[in-house]
Amino acid sequence: MAYRLIVHRELCHGCGNCVVACPVNASKSTEIAGGKGPQEDIGPSIIVEDGAVRINQLKECKNCATCIKACPVGAIELEEV
Ligand code: SF4
Ligand code: SF4
Repeated sequence: MAYRLIVHRELCHGCGNCVVACPVNASKSTEIAGGKGPQEDIGPSIIVEDGAVRINQLKECKNCATCIKACPVGAIELEEV
């Protein structure tokens, strides 16, 4: 069974919890893991842009659901594909 991460940008308020929680992001940048904000130039999987989160590099997403658990408003989910 395969899953795809989807974001409901209309629900997101840009808190960045998911960006910090994502283990792929953390593996790429200790600044992200430390909560200093997303750095798109190093290619995280999930970033905050224009006040809402978006998936930057879906192919790198491990579908681990950590970001889903970190989101206080249920703006992220895994969709079966
Ligand atoms: S499902 Fe996991 S790897 Fe994918 S964006 Fe969320 S936290 Fe990162
Ligand atoms: S998707 Fe959720 S955790 Fe991520 S920035 Fe938006 S509100 Fe915060």
